[in-house]
Amino acid sequence: MGKFFKRSAQGAGVPHEKRTSGLETVVMPLPSKIVLSMSQHIGAPASPVVAKGDQVYVGTVVGKSGGFVSSDIHSGVSGIVEGITSITAPNGAVQTAVVIVPDGAQKVDPAVAPPNVTDLKSFQDAVRASGLVGLGGAGFPTAVKLAPKNLDEIDTLIINAAECEPYITSDNRCLIEDTHYIFSGIKAVMKYLNIGRCIVGIEGNKPEAISKIQAAIDAPGIEVKSLPCRYPQGAEKVLIENCTGREVPFPGLPSDVGVIVMNVTSVAFVGKYLETGMPLVTKRLTVDGDIVKDPKNVEVIIGTPVQELLDFCGGLTDEPGKVLYGGPMMGNCLADLSQPVLKNNNAILAFSQKWAHLPKVTNCIPCGRCTNACPLGLSAKEIVQAYNNGNVELLQELNADLCMSCGTCSFVCPAKRPLAPSIALAKIMMKNGGKK
Ligand code: SF4
Ligand code: SF4
Repeated sequence: MGKFFKRSAQGAGVPHEKRTSGLETVVMPLPSKIVLSMSQHIGAPASPVVAKGDQVYVGTVVGKSGGFVSSDIHSGVSGIVEGITSITAPNGAVQTAVVIVPDGAQKVDPAVAPPNVTDLKSFQDAVRASGLVGLGGAGFPTAVKLAPKNLDEIDTLIINAAECEPYITSDNRCLIEDTHYIFSGIKAVMKYLNIGRCIVGIEGNKPEAISKIQAAIDAPGIEVKSLPCRYPQGAEKVLIENCTGREVPFPGLPSDVGVIVMNVTSVAFVGKYLETGMPLVTKRLTVDGDIVKDPKNVEVIIGTPVQELLDFCGGLTDEPGKVLYGGPMMGNCLADLSQPVLKNNNAILAFSQKWAHLPKVTNCIPCGRCTNACPLGLSAKEIVQAYNNGNVELLQELNADLCMSCGTCSFVCPAKRPLAPSIALAKIMMKNGGKK
């Protein structure tokens, strides 16, 4: 195991902008089509198992997982496969996608039924069959997360309900509206993985959610922790330290300190899936931003084109400067509005040219704020200098590959230097053996 960092863990006090937190989730009607990317997760892409003209139903498998770290893709509509196509992801990767035109009947696939879960293996198999991936943004297949090599050493389940990104309130609505499923999911994970303790970590700016979860605790070993509102409170390593006092070593995983972390929406889905058997075909999203006419929390069928989702929210009031998958700190820009909603999306945010405009960059002063604020104690300024000089050896010494692209360093920099995007490029350069 490598060296331990002593984290300063100062983070940043980002504006909350959670104006949709009190808005109950509304269900969007059927879109004109759904576009299901076969790469909605970390790991090998799924392979299409349907062809043009095939009839599919709600819950039908249309993409079969491509390996252990991969996930099945299911249809959220009944209808006809229009074709297999290619789409370009925000990172430029070209992905295979299945396009389905709904028939309006929303007939459920006869194979959809509550899974027969009796032990750890059947629980892990059920989670794999559900198509669940980390719904907090990472998209890591949950079945893999629930099968750590050192399962005997895991003593704590942490439910990540920090939701520290500005604007996004979909987890807050999950805490309030899906409390029953959250608890049935938690209890199933604790039972089948034999974990005695669960901490639900929620940022203190969600008092209604904290009260609701606190009041619903009906089993031993489950507790709620109100967390300070410091970004990035929801980053796995930060959350683990603030919930348990344990520091995840570098390089290392939460399981190295006896912890499994699940996003609250993911664990609620587990609870619902065990009762219904309906795989992951819908997602709750926050739709907001200064040019969204009618911001909402929306339950939407995965694969819905973003343009149709925005139309459901009253459309845009101005020419967009930037439309994001996710929050303003870590979200990715959409190349165009025909892009589909993905499993791990928790928000679509649309901003005007004025808000999307990047500030003027000035010289480093050098004040050290980027290092003080980094939750991992990385020296963003030095990493960027090493990247500009093409010095891969120094990048390795500075542990640039540990950067989680949280954007805190860029946010606090008084010179407005684009540190986080440059570090993302530095990581690519390290992977390419020094080539920019
Ligand atoms: S983007 Fe990377 S370097 Fe910057 S604060 Fe986050 S983890 Fe640290
Ligand atoms: S925060 Fe900005 S100005 Fe301050 S040291 Fe870091 S890069 Fe330089």
